[in-house]
Amino acid sequence: MVMPTSVEEVQAVVRIASRHRVPLWPFSQGRNNGYGGAGVLTRGAVLVNLSKMNRVLEVDEDCAWALVEPGVRFFDLYDHLHEGDYRLWPSVPDLGWGSVIGNTLEHGLGYTVDGDHPARQCGMEVVLADGSVVRTGMGAMDGNPAWATHKRGFGPSVDGLFMQSDFGIVTKMGVLLQPAPEYFASCQVKVKNFADLAPLVETMRGLILERVVEAAHPVIATPYQSNAIDGLGIDPSQWWQGSGPMPEEDLQRMADNTGIGRWAMRFAFYGDRRVIDLSLEIVRERFAMVHGAVVTSRIFASDDIEHEAKTQPELSMSGIPSMRQLESLKAARGETFGHLDFSAVAPATGAHALRMADLLRPAFERWGIDYDPSFLLTPRGIILVTLVWFDSADEEEVSRAYDLFRELVVEARAAGCGLYRSHIEFHDHVAEQYDWGDHALRRLNSRIKDALDPAGILAPGKYGIWSGSLARDE
Ligand code: ADP
Repeated sequence: MVMPTSVEEVQAVVRIASRHRVPLWPFSQGRNNGYGGAGVLTRGAVLVNLSKMNRVLEVDEDCAWALVEPGVRFFDLYDHLHEGDYRLWPSVPDLGWGSVIGNTLEHGLGYTVDGDHPARQCGMEVVLADGSVVRTGMGAMDGNPAWATHKRGFGPSVDGLFMQSDFGIVTKMGVLLQPAPEYFASCQVKVKNFADLAPLVETMRGLILERVVEAAHPVIATPYQSNAIDGLGIDPSQWWQGSGPMPEEDLQRMADNTGIGRWAMRFAFYGDRRVIDLSLEIVRERFAMVHGAVVTSRIFASDDIEHEAKTQPELSMSGIPSMRQLESLKAARGETFGHLDFSAVAPATGAHALRMADLLRPAFERWGIDYDPSFLLTPRGIILVTLVWFDSADEEEVSRAYDLFRELVVEARAAGCGLYRSHIEFHDHVAEQYDWGDHALRRLNSRIKDALDPAGILAPGKYGIWSGSLARDE
């Protein structure tokens, strides 16, 4: 493993690797365990650990952006903004220990108005496989001050090429931030029955598309998840003691007897108190038409959130990084728990949501593994997120989880659903499902790879992209 501290050192590493044809595997923090962490696909690769390049290089309060290096974690960006008294919020994912750049390059998501992280990237500096450096967008003009304020420059917009790919090593990136709002409202809608998922999705999609709700990615949780998130301490074994997924009728009994809701959706509002109050009124009106829906909210003055926020979603919806989710998972599943994250996409309609919620249950039942799917609205799409759990100390369980995952990819494909991201172990398998035109897109990616990195030294095989001269080392 090498740990460069500057762009010049990254360039030198790439040149040496290129000369000796040694594959490199760059990563920023390597914390993204459900998707493979700092894992590598080929033997004999050198890890390029970018965590020492960890400076927030610039912050602009007026235009609300920051320029960061790859090792900057969400915790670091938050602390930097806090300590510098900038009235700016970052968007953060569930856990704060990952890097802003790694998460963005992987198409990661947060929950504030800036929660679509790839969309809020603005300008990049990238080291290519030949050791040269390129800056994208306005950064392609030397000294241009608009680098991190205007996404596109002149000519093709190439930034997306460096996300979910193996085409370069990103050494700087502009991140768009949210001016700290005066107020923040943490909201929840609970519905009673399984089938209420449909009107829940339909109603929220309407509110988002009309711009009543601006927060990115409302999350729809199950009774299990609500129990953990809200720290309710309910023991599910009162309703079900078997192994594998809890049957739907027992889950429904658990929801009914606890009042926890069969589905609970979390989202937020930001800004002027009057606008928040009015928006909430509209939300209540709309959900009054959904049988049994209950809307609740907690409103905080921006400066009080850190002390008054009670739950992990309240923190992440207000751009405060934490490790709470990992702590609660460890408490529930033990220190050696592991997970593979399965994230499949469908249009945001009630019919698709119901179909997705049921689609994978039989496979989990067959393999005897817990099934506990949640949904994110994106807003015209829904992402079904379900974690495949295992105990990493139990080899048989690990191998069962991996076998199940492989099957889930195929079952989702058969239902017309693709994964938006996956653990590296399955990149070839997932890419295989994107088969339109006899895998025309994968062939285009390979041609770009061959042009930029003919020896295939940068992260070979990531996202199913190999240079022509290489195949996977099984
Ligand atoms: P996190 O910071 O969330 O822990 P990683 O650093 O592991 O995430 O990044 C996730 C993936 O994104 C890595 O496995 C790697 O493939 C890619 N990646 C991360 N940082 C860079 C970078 N600076 N340049 C190119 N690819 C990167």
